[in-house]
Amino acid sequence: MGEDVRNVVILGSGPAGLTAAIYTARADLRPLVVEGEPSSTSDQPGGQLMLTTDVENFPGFPEGVLGPQLMTDMRAQAERFGADMRTAKAVSVDLSSTPIGIWFAGEEASGPSVRTRSLIIATGARSLMLGLPNEARLLGYGVSTCATCDGFFFRDRPIAVVGGGDSALEEALFLTKFGRSVTVIHRRKELRASKIMQDRAFRNEKIDFRWDSVVTDVLGGDRLEGIVLEEVNTGETTTLAVEGLFVAIGHVPNTDLFVGQLELDPAGYLVTRDGTKTAVPGVFACGDVQDHTYRQAITAAGSGCMAAIDAERYLADLESHEALAAETAV
Ligand code: NAP
Repeated sequence: MGEDVRNVVILGSGPAGLTAAIYTARADLRPLVVEGEPSSTSDQPGGQLMLTTDVENFPGFPEGVLGPQLMTDMRAQAERFGADMRTAKAVSVDLSSTPIGIWFAGEEASGPSVRTRSLIIATGARSLMLGLPNEARLLGYGVSTCATCDGFFFRDRPIAVVGGGDSALEEALFLTKFGRSVTVIHRRKELRASKIMQDRAFRNEKIDFRWDSVVTDVLGGDRLEGIVLEEVNTGETTTLAVEGLFVAIGHVPNTDLFVGQLELDPAGYLVTRDGTKTAVPGVFACGDVQDHTYRQAITAAGSGCMAAIDAERYLADLESHEALAAETAV
């Protein structure tokens, strides 16, 4: 059987990966999109939007759209133009080989599962969660990881935010536009956030703090109704009635595959320059795996488009160099 050598492989099927797929498919490059197993929490097909309910800030949907529906539609759009989808977990890549080799889980013993002339990395990032059973059940039903996405649904409601870093205070400040009150719950007495964010939060009358406290349970049937807090010094537990709980204890980019092969910033995100280029020719990165500033579906989709155009131009240059080399050899 001949080796499977692709023009473009896209790792990840969130808004960045699928937008890259739509563009590269329409450029006749027949991309292969590798999407994770549906049961996975870190690389589920469709990415983080599969964990949200209504998305009201993606342009073009005046009535909003459900996150999973948006991803299903993006996937169908990519397939319509000839993108191949494969459910697999990439466990190893060799970016030093030409073409680049990629191994899928269960196929590590033999040669690469697929080789590719260019690679678009869109593996995303995942929010750190508290790890409470009811937290997972109520995700999208009061529990959220994105104030920009979901804050609007909590107008005049009591809200809590967990975390003591810049993300938590940024979320808390944003949520004061909507919520009746915003309680920041932090496991220590000192915030990790920058001084300027702390000053803003302390000045805001809608924000109050629960220090030295952790969330030990999330309450509610169909929707969040409250949380259980434990004071870490005394062990005393209290219940706080809130309708929104925003978990803002950090994100982890899904970059394990590339450690030692690509440049990562101190927080572990891929470093891109000049658009979506990494330091390895033919390897591009887009979406949350290289962006910890904006982290929106629309910015991820935009950078997916950029990666597709960058890959297309790279392949066109490669082809003209190869044609020139062949002519010179004759
Ligand atoms: P972070 O700085 O790592 O803060 C995470 C916070 O969550 C910490 O306060 C930590 O507590 C707490 N935490 C971690 N695990 C926890 C757990 N299991 N239970 C309860 N609390 C837990 O993460 P981040 O706030 O997402 O920021 C990441 C980076 O992005 C930072 O460099 C930040 O400055 C930057 N950022 C900047 C801005 C801005 O400038 N506007 C906005 C967002 C993010 P401890 O403090 O006790 O460790």
